[in-house]
Parts: sequence; C-alpha cells; structure tokens
Amino acid sequence: MKKASKKEISVIKEAFVERYSEAVTELHYNSAYELVIAVALSAQCTDKRVNLITPALFKKYPDAASLAVADLDDVKVLINSCSFFNNKAKNIIAMANRVMNVYEGEIPMDEKELITLAGVGQKTANVVMIEYTGANLMAVDTHVFRVSHRLGLSSDETASKTEATLVKKFQTNLHQLHQGLVLFGRYICTAKNPKCETECFLREFCKSKESFKAR
Ligand code: SF4
Repeated sequence: MKKASKKEISVIKEAFVERYSEAVTELHYNSAYELVIAVALSAQCTDKRVNLITPALFKKYPDAASLAVADLDDVKVLINSCSFFNNKAKNIIAMANRVMNVYEGEIPMDEKELITLAGVGQKTANVVMIEYTGANLMAVDTHVFRVSHRLGLSSDETASKTEATLVKKFQTNLHQLHQGLVLFGRYICTAKNPKCETECFLREFCKSKESFKAR
C-alpha cells in the first residue's frame, strides 16, 4: 500500500488540528475518577453504551472510597450490559482500592502511575492523560488504526506499533490528532460505508478503503 509523503502528512495533520482543535471525548464524566472508570469500561464497548451505564454507577459509587468497599455482585449488575463486565467489575473495585491505599483517594495523573491501577493498560492511561491534561500522547483504538492505514500514515500490524509510528510522524499536537482521528473514524471514515464522497475532507490523500483491523 502507498505511504503518505512528508508533505501529505503535514497537510493531513494541519487539517485534523484545524478541524478538531476543540474536540474532546464523547464519554460523560465530571472528575478524574469518573473519567478513568469510563475509559476502562469503554474497552471493547461503545462510548454510547458506557454513557448509559455510568450515571447509575457514579450515583451509587461517587468516589474511590465508596467503590473500594463496593459489593462485587452489585457492581456487576450495574455494568452488566457492557462487554467483559465480570472482569471490569473486579478491576474497577481493585483500582479504587489502590487509589485509596496508595494515592490517598486521588487518581494519579501520571502515565506511569495510572498503569499500576487494575484494568488500566497503556492505551487507557494515554486516553485519560490526553483527555484530562491535554498531554502530547497518542492512543490507538479501532478508529485511529483504520484511519491511519487508509490515509497511508501507518502500515503496522499492531495498535502499539501504529501508536509509535504516529508519534514519530506527527510529533506535536498529538492530543488533538488523537481526538480528531477517533471522531473522523467514528462519523466519517467508518468501517463500513465510509462517507467518502459526501463528507470526507481528506479524499485526495486516501490510499485505500479497506477495513483495517489491528492484530
Ligand atoms: S475517502 Fe473514504 S475511506 Fe478514504 S479517508 Fe476519506 S472517508 Fe476514509
């Protein structure tokens, strides 16, 4: 597959930054605690679904202190329409316990500390940092992966290699690029029936309409 040239990368970057400069996550949250949980729940689950689940969860467990002593079965019931809810329920309770025991009840806003929390991998930590602090980081979900490949920005087979490639190629404005790539992939460059003719502002840079998926 053809790769995007340096010039193309720079124009694509500019287009994303301009169009999505104010873009934020579509997950609903009011605090770092709520954001970390919403992002953790969104793995393999849509943001829409997570937004339906979290109001009742946050009402009953508004902070790490209450969630740390929550009944596991009760949490499972509250989040059971989310994929992998059994593991996610265990993880968010364990996460709250660590936040209470090690971080005095405050979510640590640091990439390396975040990944020590149960259920928080590198991607979740990066998404939290991008959203909450505007950190210059990239995170590759299914949308970012597909769009990066269609635009010839990456030919890597895995999400983590694609992340490294995007960081190397874009270098700056990564948080805006992340938010933009997600929204562009979710609403315009969709996996099935992308809106190439009607809405795509990057048509001239498109290298393929294949539905790329990370291994
Ligand atoms: S032309 Fe279509 S497939 Fe290509 S980047 Fe645009 S929306 Fe995506």
